[in-house]
Amino acid sequence: MWQAEVRVDLDAIRDNVAILRAGTTAEVMAVVKGDGYGHGMLPSARAALAGGATWLGVATLDEGLALRRGGLSDVPVLAWLHSPGMPLHDGVAAGIDLSAGSPHLVGELVAAARRAERTARVHLKIDTGLARGGATPAEWPVMLEDAAKAQADGDLEVVGVWSHFVAADSPGHETIDRQLAAFADALATAERFGIIPRYRHIANSAATLTRPDAHYDLVRPGIAVYGLSPVEGETFGLRPAMTARARVAQTKRVPAGQGVSYGHTYVTERETTLALVPLGYADGVPRAGSNAGPVQLGGKRRTVAGRVCMDQIVLDVGDDPVVAGDVATLFGPGDDGGPTADDWAAVVGTINYEIVTRFGSSRVPRVYDGTAGEPA
Ligand SMILES: *Cc1c(COP(=O)(O)O)cnc(C)c1O
Repeated sequence: MWQAEVRVDLDAIRDNVAILRAGTTAEVMAVVKGDGYGHGMLPSARAALAGGATWLGVATLDEGLALRRGGLSDVPVLAWLHSPGMPLHDGVAAGIDLSAGSPHLVGELVAAARRAERTARVHLKIDTGLARGGATPAEWPVMLEDAAKAQADGDLEVVGVWSHFVAADSPGHETIDRQLAAFADALATAERFGIIPRYRHIANSAATLTRPDAHYDLVRPGIAVYGLSPVEGETFGLRPAMTARARVAQTKRVPAGQGVSYGHTYVTERETTLALVPLGYADGVPRAGSNAGPVQLGGKRRTVAGRVCMDQIVLDVGDDPVVAGDVATLFGPGDDGGPTADDWAAVVGTINYEIVTRFGSSRVPRVYDGTAGEPA
């Protein structure tokens, strides 16, 4: 018997990746950082591979090493976020592709390659406008020169050149074309240094779904893998993989005028039934969902009554025959008119990415549905 759980539909992940694959001639790198956006990194990775992904993308070296330890020993993996002094040689030894977004990092990768006694597989990152990771236009030729020399010395192999979008989730945003032009320039400059990478990549989910001209050789969808749309108002046929739900722990009749939960920010209008749902902000429910978050219970959509607590929320179910043990769904695929991660994101002022990633917490057991990618 379970009290609260996060269900993850592996077949949905597989099918979402298959949709992405069908829409491109590029290879698909499924991004599984952030513990697979809260869905569990390894099962999500395996399901994505079953759907046709041929690469996996993570932010940190540790995430990449965890994929290797988890038995994904041959799949190309790219890890892109490194602070100075990280044991990059472990990544090189594990055959993990590493990003370099500054000349300094090229130097570190050369040292890592020598220490690992193995050629480092490197993706050079150009900042085309996001002003996050990546070389500035001024650093780019310096980095290319260093990388070309290291490649000639056998320390590095430049496998990729890449960048990341500012606002591909707003189709038509003026930055998109500007970044694509800057990326094309950066590739032309690389060629002048003799660097012609096998993989050129810039597309996240939004660009994968809306800008085929940005696909190049490899696309890097994350959120779409999990069935959530990066573009407001469009689903692209994707199916949300995560459902967060809990069994009502207790119900009680209370009179009109009863204040509910901390601070009594909700007060009952009439005699009513309150239902206590055992999920709170320690589990991922945003506290900003106080008096706002939608929950499906007893076949109807309710709104959290009063404050979200660390471990629980309260729903006012009126005179409906809700009893302890009934299942309350915070979000899921929305099949039965129930709320989705998008609905939660809208009411708390965030993005669907943050809603599902928050539910990756360890207290709530994660249960997998479907068999995609799992050993037979
Ligand atoms: C997270 C991330 C992605 C995936 O982005 P989505 O919007 O989830 O598709 C791709 N590339 C990089 C560099 C990222 O950090």
